[in-house]
Amino acid sequence: MKILICDALAKNAIDGLKSLGVDVIEKTSIEKEELMGEITDYDGIIVRGRTKVRKDLIDKAAGSLGFIIRAGVGLDNIDFEYAREKGIEVINTPEATTNSVAELAIAHIFSLLRDIPRGTSTLKKGEWIKKQLVGSELTGKTVGIIGMGRIGRRVAELVIPFDGSVLGYDPYVKEVDNDNIKMTNLDELLTNSDIITLHLPHTDETHYLIGEEELRKMKDTAFLIDCARGGIVDEEALYRVLKDGAIAGAGFDVFEKEPPEGSKLMELDNFNCTPHIGAQAKEGKVRLGEEVVKKVAARL
Ligand code: NAD
Repeated sequence: MKILICDALAKNAIDGLKSLGVDVIEKTSIEKEELMGEITDYDGIIVRGRTKVRKDLIDKAAGSLGFIIRAGVGLDNIDFEYAREKGIEVINTPEATTNSVAELAIAHIFSLLRDIPRGTSTLKKGEWIKKQLVGSELTGKTVGIIGMGRIGRRVAELVIPFDGSVLGYDPYVKEVDNDNIKMTNLDELLTNSDIITLHLPHTDETHYLIGEEELRKMKDTAFLIDCARGGIVDEEALYRVLKDGAIAGAGFDVFEKEPPEGSKLMELDNFNCTPHIGAQAKEGKVRLGEEVVKKVAARL
């Protein structure tokens, strides 16, 4: 079996594949044209989020390529339904980085509650703004989780010990096997939460799910965290509500455009951000490597 690795993977993935006897070709910065030229040489390709697998590439690969493995969760960079129609199996590894993303959401929550980024940046400029940095505890707060899949549930598990309430909204999940989570509707969650964190996919249905109207339903002391996908929140509307104090702050790992060049959000002290690092934890990458090897072994 010959596999092309299109995006960087942890060493344990490459070693594991080789130990299965797979012929592994690593071209982790391969661009579209080169990929189009040689896609028919492989039994399978492994991608992360960087490589786009669109219809033109799938048309070229149909009949020779057996599978595409997306190391990670999101399939938004792959026209996966079209690939499946063309007989190419599309496989993802959804479990591996669940905890890494959930913990990043928790890191954003604490960063906002205690304004750690502003503490750091002012202190490095020689300013001692102790009196301005009065934050809040997580203990006793209401955390609203939109999207109660793998990551949303893990976030719930991590915040439950802080003795607050956990509200969940997910139109496709009516009940969760955890008495500490109260499932509710979107309006109730927006109005009652002190912290809202998003863990759902970006689809036509969820595009701008959180727009100006929804943001203005939130408490003016509340924080919004997005470690899911750009496009679920209307960033222009977010800018307006952060600027006029309709919500207290936001922490984002994902953006409508990545990198978010020219985004006005970057001007705001109450906007914290990270460059799409949800899955960028060493432990998650090792688990991702193990999952990829398991998926290939299953095919062999
Ligand atoms: P999942 O499929 O287990 O859960 C997603 C949940 O969203 C499902 O329960 C689904 O019913 C729910 N959902 C769908 N439409 C909804 C709607 N309109 N309103 C509310 N909920 C809705 O996926 P997961 O593994 O928990 O991942 C969640 C998201 O996290 C992924 O879609 C991906 O976009 C994102 N993600 C981000 C990073 C990162 O680096 N920041 C890494 C991995 C995943």
